[in-house]
Amino acid sequence: MRTIRIFDTTLRDGEQSPGCSMNLQEKLEVARQLEKLKVDVIEAGFAIASPGDFMAVKAIAESVKNATVASLSRALKKDIERSYEALKGAVNPCIHTFLATSPTHMQYKLKMTPDEVLAQAEEAVRYAKSLCSDVEFSAEDASRSEPEFLYRVFEAVIKAGATRINVPDTVGYAMPEEFYELIRGIKENVRGIEKVELSVHCHNDLGLAVANTLAAIRAGATQAECTINGIGERAGNASLEEVVMALATRQDLYGFTTNINTRQIFNSSRLVSTITGVSVQPNKAIVGANAFAHEAGIHQHGVLANKKTYEIMTPESIGLPENVIVLGKHSGKHAFSERLKELGYALTDEQISAAFEKFKVLADRKKEVTDLDLRALVEADTFEMPSEFIFDTFVINSGNKMTATAVVKLLHEDKAVEEAATGDGPVDAAFNAVERCVGESFVLEDYIVRSVTGGKDAQGEVIVKLSKNGKKMRGRGLSTDVVEASVRAYVDAINRYYYQMKLEG
Ligand SMILES: [Zn+2]
Repeated sequence: MRTIRIFDTTLRDGEQSPGCSMNLQEKLEVARQLEKLKVDVIEAGFAIASPGDFMAVKAIAESVKNATVASLSRALKKDIERSYEALKGAVNPCIHTFLATSPTHMQYKLKMTPDEVLAQAEEAVRYAKSLCSDVEFSAEDASRSEPEFLYRVFEAVIKAGATRINVPDTVGYAMPEEFYELIRGIKENVRGIEKVELSVHCHNDLGLAVANTLAAIRAGATQAECTINGIGERAGNASLEEVVMALATRQDLYGFTTNINTRQIFNSSRLVSTITGVSVQPNKAIVGANAFAHEAGIHQHGVLANKKTYEIMTPESIGLPENVIVLGKHSGKHAFSERLKELGYALTDEQISAAFEKFKVLADRKKEVTDLDLRALVEADTFEMPSEFIFDTFVINSGNKMTATAVVKLLHEDKAVEEAATGDGPVDAAFNAVERCVGESFVLEDYIVRSVTGGKDAQGEVIVKLSKNGKKMRGRGLSTDVVEASVRAYVDAINRYYYQMKLEG
């Protein structure tokens, strides 16, 4: 059985998409999860894009132990050098370089002739190879390139030392049958192709990224580039969980396998959506909230009689928690930490103690503490950093025929700061009071509320996005009270602002 390599580009293509930017600490967190998921390659970023990108690629390269770590570079010496510098500490580094090969891109964007493009691609790969043994070459806009020209370019870069050839459908234009033919043509016409990984990178502009990826794999592609939750430029990339579960569920048809630990799929999806604040649509395949929910009575009846009637894969196979009552207010710390271990979290004693304190507060308010609650608690905790302001208490007075007022107390350098403010509703009043305590104002860019579990006593999770002086930060708050969750999220975002300021000196 052939093993298809999974090349994850959540931290590069995904991170580039609107609303998905991550800071260094968050990128490291995602990279760690990708290792648990057992992806073969982690594309950590575009090293030359900014000092922040460089630092992130470097930090990920130094912390990842098993997966290959790649950095993107244009087909330019300075880009390749920068990637090489950032990847130095990696156990398995890979320099990824790209150049467009379609007539439109060559003529209008690059203003180069095909022969010039061919020469530059070859030179870039040869240079990258002199620094790093693993080199991927991407022919940007391959799906709109002349196949004959693609063959020539690929043959030349393989001779120059490329170990991975990537065929991107950069603009999401290809149809599955067509993409199948393109990959077959490459397989049949490029000398040396059998010695390298043949990779595809599909975009979802017409909703066909996963279909095109699967068609390419059938035609002989050996590596699939994808992202968690399908995030990425414009309509996104091929979603990792969909490609992997399609191959796993239809192994009878394809006969292919991957190295992915599918039981880490749910955790990975949650982590990326929590960190970016971009939630997953409920009907999203594999990881959407409804993906395994059987609503119709006739379906429920069937599933109860035999799961196979309507279930083509099990929730457990992607690591979906069963959402059963596991802990209550009488549960001890030992049971608590054991359950966290079972859920796949490796926490320090300090982190466990901090999370346990929060758990006790939650168990007092909510009678059933589920796995989803625990995940939300722990995830809130893992992202904590030194706090300038600590949330203490709040009081709200609000109604439909009165002006909402809020009093908020924060702790700052061991002193209490308390302020009152009015606002357009309780949340607005509370945010105004927080700004008074802090003594600065921020622009609220986005405000998202979602419930962690069902039921009246469910925990609300609030994500806010703030901006100030060109900096953007995200904050997250969790509570059974939505106003409290909002205040916590606001304070968290403000703390991130001060933390960023400190990091930048
Ligand atoms: Zn892309």
